[in-house]
Amino acid sequence: MVIVVKAGGRALDKNIDGIVGDLINISKQERVVFVHGGGDAVTDMCKRLGIEPKFVVSPEGIRSRYTDEKELEVYVMVMAGKINKTIVSKLIALGSKAIGITGADGPTLIAERKKRIVIVDERGRKRVIDGGYTGRIINVDITLIKSLIENGYVVVVAPIAIDSEGTLLNVDGDQTAYAIATALKAQDLVILTDVEGVIIDNKIVKEIRSSEIEGIIDKIGTGMNRKVMLAGKAVNEGVNRAIIASGIIQNPILNALSGNGTVVLK
Ligand code: ADP
Repeated sequence: MVIVVKAGGRALDKNIDGIVGDLINISKQERVVFVHGGGDAVTDMCKRLGIEPKFVVSPEGIRSRYTDEKELEVYVMVMAGKINKTIVSKLIALGSKAIGITGADGPTLIAERKKRIVIVDERGRKRVIDGGYTGRIINVDITLIKSLIENGYVVVVAPIAIDSEGTLLNVDGDQTAYAIATALKAQDLVILTDVEGVIIDNKIVKEIRSSEIEGIIDKIGTGMNRKVMLAGKAVNEGVNRAIIASGIIQNPILNALSGNGTVVLK
């Protein structure tokens, strides 16, 4: 069986050893792909290099990173370099076979540049600007990852894709995990974050059926709403189970696989 695990940058910052320890635990039984985030580390490195990180706000009020050419350089250095190789070295130190790739390798993830995006400026006016170096994944070729997991490697993937012209692009970590899990028809997609699961009316929701998502999505805030939508798509497209759970507790992956957090089913 194949399990795809994704952890956001904050969960990794707080609990990298717990997450890596569990990747080792599950890799003894299953084939494992791990997708990491790391946005805060990119922001920190930009600041250290004197590059002011940029964020934009969409008309829907969603704030996201804006990747211009300079920031893309830092994004690639930090994601494919420091974060990816730190995780790989920890896995290897604990006795695992591990390899770190980006979605551009292979190529595995083909994306399309968002040519123009609509933003709201400081004065509340709508403006259309160049989309920068953020991509939307349009195709997945799972050949490379398949051959690596079949040979017993834990594959650590940085959320970077490539477009048809060979330009590297920043892609969302959750989208990356969803795309890979779906292409691999993974048994489970585990999305680890810094909360225990999806909260509605102050309670953790134990289980969500994909058909229920449309009716509840407006009750879920930014960040989590995207994860729920992707989890729903994943189970509709052949993943058996998607679990959104805490990455900042002991044994976070075993905890999620035992059904804690929010389980999304078809
Ligand atoms: P990550 O960096 O781990 O990918 P995000 O910041 O993108 O995580 O999304 C997780 C965040 O979503 C949580 O930290 C939480 O603040 C926020 N969130 C918004 N609405 C909800 C909700 N209904 N239930 C749980 N978390 C929510």
